Amino acid sequence: MSREDYEIVIGLEVHAELSTKTKIFCSCPTEFGAAPNTHTCPICMAMPGTLPVLNEKVVEYAVKAGLATNCEISRDSKNDRKNYFYPDLPKSYQISQFDKPLCEHGYIEIELENGEKKKIRLTRIHIEEDAGKLNHNEFGGGSLVDLNRAGVPLIEIVSEPDLRSAKEAEEYLKKLKSILEYIEVSDCKMQEGSLRADVNVSVRKKGTTEFGTRTEMKNMNSFRSIVRAIEYEADRQIDVIEEGGIIEQETLRWDDVSGKTFSMRDKEDAQDYRYFPDPDLVAIRLSEEYIENIKNNLPELPESRRARYIQEFGLSEKDSNLLTASKHLSNLFEEAQGICNNAKAVANWLLSDVSRILNEKELEPDQIPFTAEQLAKMITLIDKGTISSAIGKKVLEELFEEPKDPEEIIKEKGWIQISDEGAIKEVVMKILEANPQSVADFKAGKDKALGFLVGQAMKETKGKANPQMLNKMFLEELKK
Ligand code: ADP
Ligand code: ZN
Ligand code: MG
Repeated sequence: MSREDYEIVIGLEVHAELSTKTKIFCSCPTEFGAAPNTHTCPICMAMPGTLPVLNEKVVEYAVKAGLATNCEISRDSKNDRKNYFYPDLPKSYQISQFDKPLCEHGYIEIELENGEKKKIRLTRIHIEEDAGKLNHNEFGGGSLVDLNRAGVPLIEIVSEPDLRSAKEAEEYLKKLKSILEYIEVSDCKMQEGSLRADVNVSVRKKGTTEFGTRTEMKNMNSFRSIVRAIEYEADRQIDVIEEGGIIEQETLRWDDVSGKTFSMRDKEDAQDYRYFPDPDLVAIRLSEEYIENIKNNLPELPESRRARYIQEFGLSEKDSNLLTASKHLSNLFEEAQGICNNAKAVANWLLSDVSRILNEKELEPDQIPFTAEQLAKMITLIDKGTISSAIGKKVLEELFEEPKDPEEIIKEKGWIQISDEGAIKEVVMKILEANPQSVADFKAGKDKALGFLVGQAMKETKGKANPQMLNKMFLEELKK
C-alpha cells in the first residue's frame, strides 16, 4: 500500500498560560523574564505547612475561554492532585483537574483549504498550575531550577482526535490562538512558551473506523515545527506499519535541527498519577448569574470582526480572514484605517509587504515595531502623492528598522516624490534621447516600450519620480 492509502489522525492538548497578574494559588507575579527564583514565595516553593488559595481570576478566564469555544460550563467543579516526581515540580504533585473540569464538550470551527468549514470538538478545558523550569548545562554541566513559573496559571484545552492533516492542526491552533488573544486571557506568546501543544499523532488505513496507536510529542511551541513534526511522524509510522511492525505508544521528542522524532520514554499508559481531590481546596461552584455575566461581557470574537470587515470595508473574505487571525494585526488595521481612511490600502500593506517582512524576519504580528499612526501616515503620504508606492516600500523597511514619523524618514533620506513638471520633463527628454530604439518600437505599435521607458526614468530618479506624471509626459512626447 502507499502513503495515499493512509489517513493521519491528530489530537492536540494545548497549554495556555493565563495573563492574570498573580499566580494561581499565591500572590506572586506571573511576569515573564525576571531573574531566577525572584517571583517565589513559600506557597509556590512548596514549603511544608503552606496552603493554596485559588485565584478567582483564573476561574473567570477559564470560563471565558470555555464560552468563547462553545463549551458547557460546569456548575460544580474541583481541583485534584496529579502526583508525579520531577525536579521542576516542588510539591511532587501538580494541582490540576481530573474528573470535573470547568468546561466540556465545546468546538472550534476551522476553515479547510477547499473553503469548507469543519468543527473540531473540544473534549475539555481545565485549569492547572505550571511547573518550574530547569536550566540545563549553563553551570558546569549541571541543571538549576527556576521556580518563577511554578504556579503560573494554565488552561489545558484538549481536542478530540478530529484533525486529519498537519494543515488542519495548524489551522486549529491558529484559530484557538486568535480566540484566546481576542478574549484577552493569554498573551499567547509562543516564543515565550505561553502557548504550547502536546501533539498526538496516529495513522490508520483509509476507510477503517478504529484509531491506530498514537505517539505524543510534548511541549511544542512553533507552528512550523508542529507541521514538520506531524508530517515526519506520520511518515515514520506508515513506514513501520508497511514493514510489518507495530507502533508503540510512547512520548517522542521532536528535534528541529535534524527534523526527526526520538523516543523519550515509553509505556505512557503505565504512568499512574494517583489523582485525588486536593483536600486543601474547596469545590468550585458557579452560579448562573456568574456565568451569564461573563457571557454578556465577552469581547468581539474573530468571526464577528471578519463579517464586519467584509460588510463595512468591502474587503474580500480571504483578506478579512487573514487580518482577523491575529488580534494585533486586526487592531492595527482598525486603528490605521481610522486615521487614514483608506481601509483597502491598509489591508493591502499589512497583508502583502508587512506580512512578507514578518515572514523573512520570523516575527509574529505582535512584534511589529511601528505604530498604527506611523503606518497610516505613510499611506497618507502616498495618497497625497508626496511619495510613490515604490518609496512607500522603502519607508516600510525603515519603519521595521527604526520606527519613527514617516515624514521625518522621507525628509532625512530625500525621498520626496518629484512632481515638478520641469524636473519630470528633463528626465523624460534624457531617457528618450538615450533610447532611440524604444522610441521607434513604440511608434511601430509596440506599447510595451512605454513601460520600459517609464522604468528607465524611475531608475534614473531612484524611484522618486511621480509615475502618473511620467506616463503622461512620455505619451505626450512620443505622440508628437
Ligand atoms: P492522555 O494524554 O492524558 O492520556 P487522552 O488519552 O484522553 O489523554 O488523549 C489525549 C489527546 O490525544 C487528546 O487530544 C486526544 O484527542 C488525542 N488522541 C487520543 N487517541 C488518539 C489517536 N489514536 N490518535 C491521535 N490522537 C489521539
Ligand atoms: Zn508564590
Ligand atoms: Mg497527553
